[in-house]
Amino acid sequence: MTAMAIAVVAGAEAQGVGETEITKWPDGKRAGMSITYDDGSLNQFRIAVPIMDKLGLPATFHVNTGRIPGGSHWTGRHIGRTWEEIAAEAKTVPTNAENVFERASAMRFIPFRGAGGVFTTAGIEIDADRMAEGIRIIDDFYRKLNAGELEPVAPRQAGGREPQEGELTWDLARELTARGYEFSSHMVTHPYMSALDAPNILYELEAGRDEMRRQLGVRSTLVGEMPYDTEVERAFELMLPVFPVARSRPWFKYTMELHQPGWSKMAEEEREYVMMRQTVYTRTTLDELNGWVDTAAAGDNIWLVTVHHGIDGIGWEAMTREDMEAHFRHVVERERDVWVGTFGDGARYVKERLSAVVTAAVCEKCGAITVTVDHPLDKELFDMPLTLRTAVDPSWEEAKVTQGERAVVVPVVREGGRSYVMYCAVPGDEAIKIQKQ
Ligand SMILES: [Zn+2]
Repeated sequence: MTAMAIAVVAGAEAQGVGETEITKWPDGKRAGMSITYDDGSLNQFRIAVPIMDKLGLPATFHVNTGRIPGGSHWTGRHIGRTWEEIAAEAKTVPTNAENVFERASAMRFIPFRGAGGVFTTAGIEIDADRMAEGIRIIDDFYRKLNAGELEPVAPRQAGGREPQEGELTWDLARELTARGYEFSSHMVTHPYMSALDAPNILYELEAGRDEMRRQLGVRSTLVGEMPYDTEVERAFELMLPVFPVARSRPWFKYTMELHQPGWSKMAEEEREYVMMRQTVYTRTTLDELNGWVDTAAAGDNIWLVTVHHGIDGIGWEAMTREDMEAHFRHVVERERDVWVGTFGDGARYVKERLSAVVTAAVCEKCGAITVTVDHPLDKELFDMPLTLRTAVDPSWEEAKVTQGERAVVVPVVREGGRSYVMYCAVPGDEAIKIQKQ
């Protein structure tokens, strides 16, 4: 093998032999799907995991790292002045746009009945950009506190709880991670991030990430998911340097509902991938659930991301185990067209593909093709193999594809008057050799 002629990836050399593309989804499938669960409620592990085990489906669990019993290093805490100092100040200084985030952050840990609930009520208002109402609720809370109208309770004992039968523990999370499930930080304590001040937003982000790294390893620090699907910009500005990928803020356009006006007007490159994020509610019917999968399978570069919470009466918006199993069986039936993987692997594949550089060269003498593929992303986090398609000479029936120590024989596929081989490659590893078999 001497004299290599560069045959180029997108160029139009004779018959295009050597032309190589990265398929939009792994294994050349038409669409992607990621099944996700929020909040780590009990039946996700007692009911959903056994069903998914049986059917061979992967999934992602977004969990609150400080609430998992059995060894969390970081639990919920307030960063900043003591609540006593803040409450004392509230006697003379009314709650305003300047101090509202500090007061909201602290009140989560004030040991008086109802404090956490009032924080959440105020958080709903602040998250929805109704700041005046949020301020009013918080001011009212501190006024009652200072007037002695609230009932004291014992401070919450963090992390000391015994797990219930079948509940998620860090040991179980490690076991499930080893079996291909994914865990990601849904923050330490599930707060309304938009109602916290910057030091407390950063604590929820960074302590959650550190917990994932300590407990489950660096791959589990790729994805973060803010509670309540917060869309507030000041929280995202702090989040994106900590987690490269957020489920509620993908780097490409997405639409909550596929037919939402506007999505068809997106620029072509933005439409290359469309995330279809769908929350499953108690009222969601099995037909609707399966319809989402069929929409994805019909092809349009859709990444369907389903968001589950409760199951069989435990957890928010619980669905039944019967519907869940019937839905997952439907997913399996569509796997011929739909790649199903964890949210992190979907994000890895898409981001790697969009940033990858591919080169290809054909040996003039022997006809062997040499392909390289690499991407500039952090390979500790972005370690997903890519699926490549390379055009080969139409006289080939089979090809041997070698990358380093790995070698496979793959069939030549004919499609649209072209002949090509499809194979898996690890970006940044050795060059890939494709030879007639
Ligand atoms: Zn949640």
